[in-house]
Amino acid sequence: MNLSYTCRDQKNYLQGRRQRELAYGQAGSMLKYFQDKISENPSFHYALQLDCEEHISNIFWADAKMIIDYAHFGDVVTFDTTFGTNKEYRPFGVFVGFNQFRETVIFGAALMFDETCASFTWLFKAFLAAHNGKHPRTIFTDQDFAMGKVVREVFIESWHGLCTFYTMQNAAKHLSDSKKDDDKDKKKPHILTEFSACMYDIEDKIAFDEAFDIMINKVDKKKASWLQNIYKFKEQWAECYMRDVLTLGMRSTQLSESFNSDLKDHLKSDLDIIRFLKHFERAVQTKRNKELDEEFEARKKLPRIRMNTPMLVQASKIYTHPIFEAFQTEYERSMAACARPLSGNDTYAVAIVRANGDLSSEQERIVVGDPLEQASSCSCYQFTRTGVLCSHALKVLDLMNIKLLPAHYVLKRWTREAREGNIHDSKGRRIIENPKLDAMIRYRFLSQKSLNLAYEAARSTEYSLLMDDALELFGKQLKDKICTSTNILSESAPQPDVHQDEALLSAARLKKKEVQPRSSKRHRSWLDKTRKYKKKVPNKTTVCC
Ligand SMILES: [Zn+2]
Repeated sequence: MNLSYTCRDQKNYLQGRRQRELAYGQAGSMLKYFQDKISENPSFHYALQLDCEEHISNIFWADAKMIIDYAHFGDVVTFDTTFGTNKEYRPFGVFVGFNQFRETVIFGAALMFDETCASFTWLFKAFLAAHNGKHPRTIFTDQDFAMGKVVREVFIESWHGLCTFYTMQNAAKHLSDSKKDDDKDKKKPHILTEFSACMYDIEDKIAFDEAFDIMINKVDKKKASWLQNIYKFKEQWAECYMRDVLTLGMRSTQLSESFNSDLKDHLKSDLDIIRFLKHFERAVQTKRNKELDEEFEARKKLPRIRMNTPMLVQASKIYTHPIFEAFQTEYERSMAACARPLSGNDTYAVAIVRANGDLSSEQERIVVGDPLEQASSCSCYQFTRTGVLCSHALKVLDLMNIKLLPAHYVLKRWTREAREGNIHDSKGRRIIENPKLDAMIRYRFLSQKSLNLAYEAARSTEYSLLMDDALELFGKQLKDKICTSTNILSESAPQPDVHQDEALLSAARLKKKEVQPRSSKRHRSWLDKTRKYKKKVPNKTTVCC
C-alpha cells in the first residue's frame, strides 16, 4: 500500500485535473502530453484520426523504445483489444511481441473510438507508418470479423493467425455439454479434448480432416454447425496448417497477464485520458525495469553447459540464456537420435529414442542434409517456426561432421547481440532510446577524464597553469560553438507561435461517444461474454458465433 499517497495528493491531483481541463479540455491535455513527450525525445510518435468535424476519434502512440523494439523483434506480433474500455467506452489496443529473452515487449498502443473496419484500417496504417512501413511476418489477433478483414487488407506481407486462447474459449462456449449430458457421458473423451488435439497436436492435414469429421458426426446439429463454421478458418488456427509459419511459440494474444491486469484496473476506473496515458507509461516503465534487472542478472550468470562440445560452447556464447537452454535441450535430444539413411544423398529418417529405457522412439522425421551448404532441413519445421534448430537436424549436421552451428541457423533476434545496430525513426533520425541517459553517460565520462587530468596537473604550479590556460581556451571555443549552433537552429526552425499552440490545444476536441455500455461495447472476449452476457443475443460481428 502506498502510504505516501495522502488526501493532499488527491486534492492536488483533482485541482491539477480541473486546471488542465479548464485550460485545454481532455483532448488539449492529451495533445500537450504528446507534445511534451516529443520534446523529451523527438522520436516519440503519435497519430490522431479526426472526423469530419475535426474531433479526435482514434489515437495511436509509440515511444522511442517501442520503435526500436519493433525494428529488432517485430517479426511476430499480436494485437489485442480485450483490456476493457475506459469511461467513455473507448477500446484500448496494444501491439505486443517477444524480445531476445522471450519476454513480452510493446510495439505501440491505441485508444480507439470504436472497432469498425474504418477504425482498424486507420490504426493498422498508423502502426506501419510509425514503424517505417515494416510488416510483421506473422500477426495474431482474436476472431473479430472487422479486425480480421482489415488485417488481411493492410498487413499484406504478413501471415494472419487466430489466437488460440480465444478460439478455445469460443469452443468451450459452443461445444460444452449441459451438466446432465456431461454426467451421462463421463467415460467418453470430451469433445473439447478432441477439438484441442485438432488445434495443437495433429500435424497431418488428412488426419486433421478425419478427426474433424468424427467430431462433427458425434455432436448435435447446433454444435456441428459451429464446427463447420470454424473449419472454414482452419488455416489460421490448426497446427497442421501452421507447421512452417514463424510463430516463435507465440500463438496466443494473452502474453503478459500481469501487465494486462494492471492496465485493466486503470481502464476500469473513472479516469481521464491523460491520467490513463500516465498509468500506461508507468506500467510500461515498471515492465522495462524488470526486464533490465533480469538482463543484468542473466549477464552475470554463466550458462551451464552440460556437455563440453564445440557447438554447445559456441551456442552458449551467442544465444541469450533462455534460448541457449532451449538449444541445449535439442542438442541433448540429438544424442538420443537414431538416423536411418534413405535413398538420395544425405537424406535420413531420424527418430529420437525415448529416455524411459524401453528403447521406443518418437515419430520419425525426414531430414535432408547438404554438406556443401552446411544445411539440414527437417520435416518437423521447428527451425522455421521457432528459429531454434531441432534435434533431428542437429543429428544430421553431426553425421555430416559439421561441428559448429552454421551462421544461417542463428537468428539474430535470439542472440546476445540482438539489439546491435542503429535504428532510425520514420523521419530518418537515429533513435536514441533515452536522451537524458546518453547525456548522463557523456557527463560521467568527461568528469572522470577532467578529474584525472586535474589530479596530474595539481602536482606542480607549471602543470596547473598549463591546464588552466588550456581550459580557458577550451571554454571560449565551447561557448562560441554553442552560440553558433543555437543561432543556426533558431534560424532554420520555425519560431513556435505560443498563442497559436495554445489556441490549438484549447480547440482540440475528442469525438464524443454515447455512453451506452450494453450496446456500444463490442463483447470483447468469449470468456467475458459467457461470464457477463449469458442472456444476450450473440454478437453478429464475430465470425464464429
Ligand atoms: Zn526436426
